[in-house]
Amino acid sequence: MTEAELRGAILTIDLDAITANYRDLARRVAPAGLASVIKADAYGLGVGPIATTLAEIGCQDFFVATLEEGAELREILPAARIHILNGLIAGAGEEFTRLGLIPVLNTHQEVEAWSGLPGAGAADLMIDTGLSRLGLDEADVARLAAVDGPDFELDCLLSHLARADEPEDPMNDRQLAQLLKARARLPLARASIAASSGLFLGAAYHLDLVRAGAAIFGINPTPERPNPMAQVIRLQAKILQVRVVDSPQTVGYGATHRVTLPTKVATVAAGYADGYARSLGSLGIAYIEDWKVPVLGRISMDLTGLDVTHVPENLARPGLYVDLIGARNPLDEVAQGAGTIGYEMLTRLGGRPHRQYLKSKKAR
Ligand SMILES: *Cc1c(COP(=O)(O)O)cnc(C)c1O
Repeated sequence: MTEAELRGAILTIDLDAITANYRDLARRVAPAGLASVIKADAYGLGVGPIATTLAEIGCQDFFVATLEEGAELREILPAARIHILNGLIAGAGEEFTRLGLIPVLNTHQEVEAWSGLPGAGAADLMIDTGLSRLGLDEADVARLAAVDGPDFELDCLLSHLARADEPEDPMNDRQLAQLLKARARLPLARASIAASSGLFLGAAYHLDLVRAGAAIFGINPTPERPNPMAQVIRLQAKILQVRVVDSPQTVGYGATHRVTLPTKVATVAAGYADGYARSLGSLGIAYIEDWKVPVLGRISMDLTGLDVTHVPENLARPGLYVDLIGARNPLDEVAQGAGTIGYEMLTRLGGRPHRQYLKSKKAR
């Protein structure tokens, strides 16, 4: 038995698919550069193997959210440009310079703090153009422009789109125009507005650098159209027990599912603590090969009941696996069924399942 086979749930992460996705996106944005956004432990998939893979195929800019994530990534990638989206936390300046991290400065106070810091290297500026989340407003930009920009090196001027997944929305053009206006008032720097979905709005949005996360990990960046990206993950759960439930029994907590015909129930070793959302109770669809096996009743913390009545006996035995997420039930679909988006589902998968990475020698 492999180590994985001893585990109840296996999350397989296809590093070749990540490589293919990165290369596909990089080709689409060239001559602009493509940064990888690997915050939240690379969207839950494990920052170590993913950062290493992306650096090997030429990625030079990496974005994470927090200082802790930046420190962890610095150990993995000694030479990469590492940008910290959540900005400069008061008192953390020395740690940024010691680790050679690039803060994305989000407020005028952060700009002043970085200016006064001994040994401060390059920094980015986030310009708020309508997301109203983090970033400098027009008055902040005017204040900086009045003194010919900050007294440190500017690497990137960033902004972030609110509705990039709605290509027809005029807000996208307005946000782009506002970033370009700020850029014209500030010293020369790279500019970047597009993330995964913004990348598909056309070359005008690519500027100097595109920051992609979700699309690299196989989430559909164009939700209104078929997914152009390769699927990266598969979540399998082991069948622990198969039983025939005769009417009038119920299945699961709350006895929400009442069996009316004799039903074969497979109990598998994954639940909401493995990232298989509780909201998929009585809704989720797993697969055994080509057989659909619907979730029966509520999902427990560690276990889920599946209807395997119609599956051949030799495929629905204890010790075999079902696909909770796979080729026939991709992440985005499962997430939609759960009432959420692929992003949230992905970041919640990484905890307990055994992570197994696929990487062919050829791709190295
Ligand atoms: C998370 C994030 C990204 C990456 O977004 P994706 O949609 O996952 O590509 C890019 N820029 C900023 C500011 C972010 O917060």
